[in-house]
Amino acid sequence: MESAIKDQRKRAVLAGIHFVASSQLPTYWGTFVVHGIVDTLGKEHLMLTMGDVGNGEPVLVRIHSECLTGDALFSLRCDCGFQLRTAMERIGDARRGVVLYLRQEGRGIGLHNKIRAYGLQDDGADTVDANLRLGFAADARDYVICKPMLEHIGVHRLLLMTNNPAKLVAMHDLGFEKVERVAVPAMRNPHNEAYLDAKERRMGHVFAGSAGDRVE
Ligand SMILES: [Zn+2]
Repeated sequence: MESAIKDQRKRAVLAGIHFVASSQLPTYWGTFVVHGIVDTLGKEHLMLTMGDVGNGEPVLVRIHSECLTGDALFSLRCDCGFQLRTAMERIGDARRGVVLYLRQEGRGIGLHNKIRAYGLQDDGADTVDANLRLGFAADARDYVICKPMLEHIGVHRLLLMTNNPAKLVAMHDLGFEKVERVAVPAMRNPHNEAYLDAKERRMGHVFAGSAGDRVE
């Protein structure tokens, strides 16, 4: 059932995305251009760009899935907000790069289900078991929309800022000709230690300084 829904979504997304509007977005790390994009299922996403990203040179890219609690509410349960800020800072330093801000909250299970999962974690489950206990996949995210988003702005070679090898594989499977990983430091604190350990142990995330992995 879940895979049928995923296939349906994939077909719908690849059928087309629509660029709704764009504007300047000044931030602490410089002025980005923010693009509003809607997919064929009506979901609203954002893309931030800075500099000439379509000149054929490899581009710093962050593929960031929405985490309202981490990105906007300063939660210490995860390090999403820290990773987003680090990526924007690096792009600002380089004066060139892209952030895809994908509206798939809670690794794809939605905001309130994420809070349910947090409740189970308060009672001792780890982040993977909590999702499974709620009847979801450990990671329900989907990256297929990245292809039309990046193609639209002429980005084909990625310097992907991530600790998640699954994202490199996903970009490779989508046909990007060159994808190189740029490690992002984890922001460990007493509240997210177990969460980060579970991501490392059970989901293959890589937190040690191992930049330079390539999928070509
Ligand atoms: Zn988060």
